[in-house]
Amino acid sequence: MSLEVVQVRYGERVTRKSAVLHEYASYGEPDGDLHMDYNFWVLRDGSRTMLLDTGYDIGERDWLGEQPVIPTAEALGLLGIDPLDVSTVVTSHFHYDHIGHLGLFRNAEVVAGVAEHDYWLGKWRRDELAGEFATAGHLQAVQLAADEGRLRLVSEETEVSPGVTVYPVGGHSPGELLTMVEERLIMAADAAHFYEQIENEWPFFAFTDLGEMRRGLSFINGLAAETGATVIPGHDGRVRDRFPALTGPAAEVATVLG
Ligand SMILES: [Zn+2]
Repeated sequence: MSLEVVQVRYGERVTRKSAVLHEYASYGEPDGDLHMDYNFWVLRDGSRTMLLDTGYDIGERDWLGEQPVIPTAEALGLLGIDPLDVSTVVTSHFHYDHIGHLGLFRNAEVVAGVAEHDYWLGKWRRDELAGEFATAGHLQAVQLAADEGRLRLVSEETEVSPGVTVYPVGGHSPGELLTMVEERLIMAADAAHFYEQIENEWPFFAFTDLGEMRRGLSFINGLAAETGATVIPGHDGRVRDRFPALTGPAAEVATVLG
């Protein structure tokens, strides 16, 4: 049975190309609005429910003017998912908008890049999180998973569940992970926020290593060419135009990617 992949939009904002694409003016292209969705993704079949990322509570703090669409727990309810039944949570990286509700998934194996883990836990230990995109509150949920033996750190291409393979790419954050689903879908998360970044290999404005980010974008395109898989950028509002809404109560917030 193949996995159903559903994108859930929990927040949104409108930004400008020039505000989020690195050195956008240098391309000589016109500026324009970008509809930026904030998503997490559900991967499920008859026997497994997995998540890629977990969203965050926009009501608690909106970092960049994010508008709430639906809280993660409520969205899961509409999808008929009990967080305690989720077997695996793959974290693309530890930024606030990706692991905010990790603590809901008390029984899940948590998958993360070892470089991501070491970078942020190190900063937390050294009290260096001020002004950063990760919070101690969110990292506590990572630590809890580690303490309970549920944290799985990866440093290379790894099949974390049958048909679900992660690839460390770094760049935006030191241990960013790509997730490939059954050689059909490449879930880029923040290795590529927008379609323009995939089409042109344009970096995002926020990075820890610009060279790694460029190599990550070219790796995504190489992997797509090799497998024929479709690339899903992590924050692009146009994904909702290209794929159908889920039928049923979650239709307003959920899009079926395959
Ligand atoms: Zn993000």
